[in-house]
Amino acid sequence: MNKFSMKLLSRLGNEGFARSCVSAFCVELEPSVEQINDIKTAVSEAVTNCIVHAYNGQNDKFIDIIVSLDNGSVEIIIEDSGCGIEDVEKAKQPFYTTKPEQERSGMGFTLMQTFMDSVEVFSQKGKGTKVVMKKNVKKD
Ligand code: ATP
Ligand code: MG
Repeated sequence: MNKFSMKLLSRLGNEGFARSCVSAFCVELEPSVEQINDIKTAVSEAVTNCIVHAYNGQNDKFIDIIVSLDNGSVEIIIEDSGCGIEDVEKAKQPFYTTKPEQERSGMGFTLMQTFMDSVEVFSQKGKGTKVVMKKNVKKD
């Protein structure tokens, strides 16, 4: 069992830092290159959503990230206290985006679901959103 948490400002430039930190921490589980890339993609999508959607570009807000390793699997929690999501099921649909004008493709949640074993989204309008993603990286 191992765990770390970080709090970082909602600046677009911090997305790469978050992705690198989380994936570096997971190395302890000896993931394959493919598994590490899957984790990087999922973290990148979730953190970008906090910056672009939850805080709508305001770069003085915080994103909380908690990563837990346990018995060959990783749990990643990415939480914001931004605008929240009205209808989570709708938001998870492929190609659904509320920002088509910014050339968003609406594929973030779909990518997270494709690359992780499970993705749960808890959100309250006006309060914020918490994404809990899990992946088993145990060797076969
Ligand atoms: P892409 O990820 O392909 O650039 P996108 O961000 O619009 O496009 P998703 O990541 O699938 O697509 O998210 C779908 C929609 O869910 C977003 O358009 C936004 O309305 C909403 N959403 C996602 N994450 C959050 C969040 N953390 N806070 C508020 N709304 C969110
Ligand atoms: Mg997105």
